[in-house]
Amino acid sequence: MIKYQYFPPFIFFQLIKMEANQANDQVIKQLLYSKKYKELIEAASQLGLVKQYQKMKYDGIIYSVGQIVQLSIDGNRDKKTYGKLIGFCNLQVDEYLIPMIKVQKYINKLELPSKLKELQEGISEFELFQSEMEEWLFCTQIDHEIKLISIKEYEEMTIQNERTYFTRADYNVEKDKFTPPISKWTRICICNQISNPDKSYIQCDKCSKWLHYECAGVQAQMAQDMNFYCSMCRKK
Ligand SMILES: [Zn+2]
Ligand SMILES: [Zn+2]
Repeated sequence: MIKYQYFPPFIFFQLIKMEANQANDQVIKQLLYSKKYKELIEAASQLGLVKQYQKMKYDGIIYSVGQIVQLSIDGNRDKKTYGKLIGFCNLQVDEYLIPMIKVQKYINKLELPSKLKELQEGISEFELFQSEMEEWLFCTQIDHEIKLISIKEYEEMTIQNERTYFTRADYNVEKDKFTPPISKWTRICICNQISNPDKSYIQCDKCSKWLHYECAGVQAQMAQDMNFYCSMCRKK
């Protein structure tokens, strides 16, 4: 009986609690260093170390949920990726607060499987596909906001701008599937290729069909000053 006076139960409780805290700390740090950010936020949320927000100010700019941004890849500032901001949080590790962002990934040409040669020819450097993938990143990975418009709007744009991108389909990474499917995308020219706004086209002055320079057999300089009639119209 006397033992309880020397070791009151609350001391045992405090010791157990301290050990648990240290163990949790280890788990959080391991997840952070192994870059398993999804598991990190889940574990930290359960421990009350995560505060979620709808907006975040970074580098003097306020970002809100729904904006689409260009992102640097962790550890490689030259490689870019894209995503829609869908959440913000502050993660507490020791006395530090780490601001993090949750994004829905947008896939660019370089991130698509390269098996379809036709696709690589037809897809623009300024084209993005919304995917189903979500991930947590550091807010310091944000480069800047980008504008995403439809392919029709993009083709009608008179001045190109390096922060304007277009989209004509979504891409499900897990199922390796485009919506709408590639068979529904607009094709162009006598070669019937997927229309790619990066390429140079010339319009036939008679039938208004757009043709690749190579397919029409014209040089850029010629295209400026002459009337052009495609091979179909020339035959008539
Ligand atoms: Zn062509
Ligand atoms: Zn023609």
